[in-house]
Amino acid sequence: MLKFVTFAVKTQLNVHDLNNEAVAGNVTDIRIMEFLDENGNRSEAPAVSGRMLKHWHYEGMRQLIINGTYSSIPLCASCKVGEPVRPAELLDNGILSHRTAIEKGAEVVVKQCSICDVHGYLAAIAGAKGAKGTSAESEEEQEPVSERRSSRAMFSWLMPVLEKINPNEEMGPVSKQVIHSRVKSGKDFDDKKLTSQMPFNKSYASGIYAFVSALDVYRIGLVELNLGNHNLYAIDDNERKNRIKVAIEAYRLMLSGQIGASLSHALPHQNPIEVLVAYSETGPLPFPVSPMYSDYLEKTIGLMPQGTQFLYWGSGSPSGVTKKNTIDEIFQEILKEI
Ligand SMILES: [Zn+2]
Repeated sequence: MLKFVTFAVKTQLNVHDLNNEAVAGNVTDIRIMEFLDENGNRSEAPAVSGRMLKHWHYEGMRQLIINGTYSSIPLCASCKVGEPVRPAELLDNGILSHRTAIEKGAEVVVKQCSICDVHGYLAAIAGAKGAKGTSAESEEEQEPVSERRSSRAMFSWLMPVLEKINPNEEMGPVSKQVIHSRVKSGKDFDDKKLTSQMPFNKSYASGIYAFVSALDVYRIGLVELNLGNHNLYAIDDNERKNRIKVAIEAYRLMLSGQIGASLSHALPHQNPIEVLVAYSETGPLPFPVSPMYSDYLEKTIGLMPQGTQFLYWGSGSPSGVTKKNTIDEIFQEILKEI
C-alpha cells in the first residue's frame, strides 16, 4: 500500500494574483521574492508562499468533502466553515470551542476531523487568566493548553522556472498593476462623489512556475502517542483510505490553477507543463528536486531510493519513469495503490 508520494510540478500561469499579500492602503501588490539563478546570480520575481499553496490544498480537501464527493469523511466545526484556528467543536450555545476539542487529545481530534488529521494544527489556548470572557478573580487559574500535530502535506513556495528568466529581465515572470473600481449603485448613487466609485489598484503576474510537495500517506490517521502500541491509527482502514484519496484528489484541483486569492474574478490562465510523481510503498521519500531547475528530472530520479515508482506527464522523455498520456492517468495510477 502507498506510504509516501511526492509531486514536482511545472506550470504556466498567466494573469494571476495568487498571493497579493503586500497591501498598502488601496493598493494591493503581489509578493516579490529574491532568489539565486543557476549561476548564483541574484534575481527577483513574483512568487507565491508555501502557506498559500498549503491553504489551497486544505481548501481543495474541504470542497471535495463538503460538495459530497467524500461526504462520509468527518470534519471538525472549524474545518466545516474554513475557520483557520482549528480544531474546534460546536457547543450547544452555537459557539466554536477550541479548548474542548483540544483537551480531548490527538486521538479524538484525528477521529473527528480528516483535515486536522492531514494538515495538522498548532493550538495554544491561554488558561483561565486572561482568557476571553473570563476573569482570574472569578475562576480558578488554569495552566495554558497547547497541542501540536505536524502536517502530513508539505509544500514549497511557487517559484519561477529559472531557464525561463532572461538575463535582461525582459522575459520570465512579469507583473502589472491595474486600476479597478467598485461602483456603488442604487438610489444613493452620486457619481460626483469620489466615494461612490472607490478606485483601487491591484497587481497581476504571469510566468512559468514550479512547486514541489510531499504527502506523508503513512502518517494519515496515525497518532504518534500510539507508537509502540499494537494499533498506531485512530481510524479504521476504510476511513484511512478515503482520507488518503481526498488528500491526493485535492492536488488535482491545485493543478487546475485553484491555488489563489481572487478566484471569483481572476482565475489564473493555467497551462500545466510537466508533472513528475514519485511514490513509495515501503517508506518515506526524499523531497524531489524542484522543477525550477533545468535538470530536475534526472536529479530527482537519481536521488530517490531503489524501489521508488515514477509517473511522468509532459513533453520530455526521461528514462526510468512511466510516461502517462494525461494527468488523470497519473492520478488513477496513484489511487490504485491505496
Ligand atoms: Zn478540523
